[in-house]
Amino acid sequence: MRIYNTMSREKEEFVPLNGNRVKMFVCGPTVYDMAHIGHARTYVMYDIMARYLRFKGYSLFFLMNITDIDDKIIARAKEEGVDPLELSRRYTEEFYRDMAALRITSVNLFAKASEHIGEIIEQISVLLEKGYAYEVDGEVYFDVSKFPDYGKLSKQNPEELRRHRIEPSPKKRDPADFALWKPAKPGEPCWDSPWGKGRPGWHIEDTAISHTYFGPQYDIHGGAIELVFPHHEAEIAQAEAFSGKRPFVKYWVHTGILMIRGEKMSKSLKNFITIREAIQRWGWETLRIFYAMSHYRSPIDFDERGIEQAKAIRNRVRSLLAKMEAIKPSRGDIGAGDEWAIRAIEDHERRFMEAMDDDFNTPEAIAAMISLCKEMERYMAGEVSGAVISRAKSAFDKFSRILGVFSDEGVPRGIADGLIRLILEIREDARRRGDWDTADSIRARLRSLGIVLEDSPRGTIWRIDS
Ligand SMILES: [Zn+2]
Repeated sequence: MRIYNTMSREKEEFVPLNGNRVKMFVCGPTVYDMAHIGHARTYVMYDIMARYLRFKGYSLFFLMNITDIDDKIIARAKEEGVDPLELSRRYTEEFYRDMAALRITSVNLFAKASEHIGEIIEQISVLLEKGYAYEVDGEVYFDVSKFPDYGKLSKQNPEELRRHRIEPSPKKRDPADFALWKPAKPGEPCWDSPWGKGRPGWHIEDTAISHTYFGPQYDIHGGAIELVFPHHEAEIAQAEAFSGKRPFVKYWVHTGILMIRGEKMSKSLKNFITIREAIQRWGWETLRIFYAMSHYRSPIDFDERGIEQAKAIRNRVRSLLAKMEAIKPSRGDIGAGDEWAIRAIEDHERRFMEAMDDDFNTPEAIAAMISLCKEMERYMAGEVSGAVISRAKSAFDKFSRILGVFSDEGVPRGIADGLIRLILEIREDARRRGDWDTADSIRARLRSLGIVLEDSPRGTIWRIDS
């Protein structure tokens, strides 16, 4: 499979550093507020990548950091009059809740910066010893002039790098230098260090955490595109200067930005949508499909039309899956009239996987899934073979596992299906007896749980309403 590497600006063949094992680190949230639908896009797309890598048989370790100590957290805590670490704890819990609600289940470990202060201090000490960093009045800066590769990810020369005026301070030797350690102001959370009481800079948190679990080199580093500079550029400088090994990361992967109706999302524009609100309005499944309808690197525009399309795809596939569950095949084996259907299933499954192998091209994969949906609807209009249905179910099961949709989590799928079928049989008995009250009441109760029944000459089928 091929993955686009921001470092080379090309799609490259994916070859992990260590056989079948893959180490992936993704920049997690700074927990000072509720996460929004832009964050959700990033995390859903890495979840799909992780699911696909595991589906392909890689043994993947997916590590995500949580920035729970940072200037933004301190500023927000001051506004609210609460303790900064208390505030970040609260939003970390909210973040976990959002991830679970979005069915982002592929992360092996969430690592908090505040729990890795020892490793951070160790990394800064080595950078000072090796002459890559300098200290001024309890503040430690990375000296970019000592790292000639600085700028290689964002493809900027030293002059361009200086123009950004990162963290302007008269203490810095060069405007492009960035902070590794910041002295604490009164009342701010702080830790003891060789440079006095203080707290880490943002960039060093990630390299200390990734070094702790992965060592000096690993396979994939992900994050949103706006993190390329200065965050990821700084990470490369710190990690490669610290360990002396390069490259620090083999594949740099970045997700595109999310706009809302053509505008950047911001609190001041009042177009800020939290993950919580989005799930309440449209449901986790429609959201995941909406994100997967665009390639992870493309910018996306969040609008109702796109959401409606995602919802239509969701309902169409859900309804096909329900029909395949309920249908009574007229034969078990594959007859002459079934061969085209088997071929169609295999072709579409291959198209789906080829799309995923091509830099996780989820829009192409979804197109293949919808096209197979149409083929199956056509096939099921006539007499069907049980063998074809089970082959199609197996294809959709793979799509579901990779995209993280169409499965009813909580209660295992088989049990949920079995329970609903049992209820439908009881309702069928009631109807046969002419007990319409019971039949109607079962329908109404299921309706209130979001389960819709459709009576047809072929029997009753059910689907989850959106
Ligand atoms: Zn990061």
